[in-house]
Amino acid sequence: MTKINFYGGVDEIGGNKVQLISPENSIFFDFGKSFNREGEFFSEFLQPRKLNGIMDLVEFGLLPPIKGIYREDYLKKAGLHHTPQPSSQGIFISHAHLDHMGYLHHIREDIPFYMTQDSHRIIRALEMTGIAGFNNYTTYQPDFLLLPKKRASKNSTTTHKRATSRDDIKKPRQIEIMEPYQEYELGDLKISSAPVDHSLPGSCAFMSDDGEEAVLYTGDFRFHGRREDQTRKMIKEAKKFTPTTIITEGTRMDRDHNLTESDIKLKAAEKARAHGGGLVIVNYPLRDLDRFYTFYQVAKESDRTMVVNTKQAFLLNEFGGEGYPGLKDVAVYIPRRGWGLLGGKSQVCMENEWISSCELEQEYLDSDYKGWEKDYINWDNNVNYLNLQESPGDYIFQCDYFEFKELIDIKPENAIYIKSKTEPFNDEMEIDARREKNWLEHFNIQIETGYHASGHACRPEIMDMILEINPEKVYPIHTRNKENFKPLEGEGIKVIDPVLKN
Ligand SMILES: [Zn+2]
Ligand SMILES: [Zn+2]
Repeated sequence: MTKINFYGGVDEIGGNKVQLISPENSIFFDFGKSFNREGEFFSEFLQPRKLNGIMDLVEFGLLPPIKGIYREDYLKKAGLHHTPQPSSQGIFISHAHLDHMGYLHHIREDIPFYMTQDSHRIIRALEMTGIAGFNNYTTYQPDFLLLPKKRASKNSTTTHKRATSRDDIKKPRQIEIMEPYQEYELGDLKISSAPVDHSLPGSCAFMSDDGEEAVLYTGDFRFHGRREDQTRKMIKEAKKFTPTTIITEGTRMDRDHNLTESDIKLKAAEKARAHGGGLVIVNYPLRDLDRFYTFYQVAKESDRTMVVNTKQAFLLNEFGGEGYPGLKDVAVYIPRRGWGLLGGKSQVCMENEWISSCELEQEYLDSDYKGWEKDYINWDNNVNYLNLQESPGDYIFQCDYFEFKELIDIKPENAIYIKSKTEPFNDEMEIDARREKNWLEHFNIQIETGYHASGHACRPEIMDMILEINPEKVYPIHTRNKENFKPLEGEGIKVIDPVLKN
């Protein structure tokens, strides 16, 4: 008998970890981090420890204690048993948001991940440009290794040292890039992906059939972005697939309409045009390339250049101009790092003499930058704080809250700040929003709100989708409004309350 276990995403937005057990197989739809539940126990300065493997997260029920799915190094380090064979045949990632894939790091290397090409690009960018931590998403780097120490003397016995530089033992994980609507067979399970519209590229639903139960897992989806046709096609194909069960998201089951991506474009273009001569600052979710594209178009329409940060530049480079403007179409903002020599306004001491940083050779300036970011610092279309200071009316400047330090260098006069992000929905975000307001007030920057379109469909759209596909039963997840699904019972569709397992 097919069994469905929910290890997250129940009565909460995100943290999806849905296990599907068929007579022969076990797979997961998503393996996400629950921000709310993790936030109940951990914070920026109170983080789970690597030294305890998975156990700091298991302690609070953030990772489920399932045998045969976790990485060998973390189990053994915590004194736990590692089974020779994995107990799951694959993890199917619906999209690259952390609440759907944020705990992949902890999964053993012989369990393959299935995802779309665009999800892979985004997840790789997340891994490469993020702060190091639990982020072995597309690669696997074993921890707690002792390596033989090289000894000068021939007669000495071998000793070992801790592996510190582990790049040589880093290997790619087993990742299967899924083509849309192509069927993948895992024993008795047949699974295909169905692309959908959501607030980042590469999002998809999954259809799985084990001969007994045909399941549609929607992931996160909407109709009001740039890819409405994909969601419509998913529904059409799902109808033909005649699922017995739909596991659907219900984030916005308390809302009856949405602001669309094109609403934002119209409104923002008008605002940017009316603000001629002044800097337009915009803050939108980094990985939402559709929102990036909206503001790229706004820049074009208001005769400005779109300026992105280096992380966004890395992501655009991953896409290589496919479906989105490429690196050549935007300017990249280079912040001051290290000693902050960029811009030539500081002095450094060389052999007892203080000299201006603009007299230094390029290699000194370059040494302010490290790792992946180094590849972007000498790009042709680069700008820095001086450019934004000199001709503010020429640019739309992408600036995240975490990059507000740049405002101290730019010292903008007559700037506006378009906040194109979701409103705060927890205490931590409220505190950040207050700080954001303080910074903007300090620099006399006008804040413009009402420029965000949600990544999720609203109640009538979700209800119509379910009625159209007409399954036997529905599990509402990724929602705090599961009771709003109840009217489906009147249409002969059973609404099952998912039970959180830990
Ligand atoms: Zn989500
Ligand atoms: Zn999402």
